[in-house]
Amino acid sequence: MKEGIHPKVNTAKVSCVCGATFEALSTKKELKVEICSKCHPFYTGSQRTVEVGGRADRFRKKYGLK
Ligand SMILES: [Zn+2]
Repeated sequence: MKEGIHPKVNTAKVSCVCGATFEALSTKKELKVEICSKCHPFYTGSQRTVEVGGRADRFRKKYGLK
């Protein structure tokens, strides 16, 4: 088995447009997202027209967040 053939996984700093930042595993060092667990209506309880559901769920699955 050769080493170094897999992409490096870093702890990426994720920045959301709402201003929240958190860390997630990624091959990139920085990520920018439009919605996160802090501004998703499921968590905030407020209604936002930009989000109708699904997108944040996919994001959380992708980055292993709960
Ligand atoms: Zn956010």
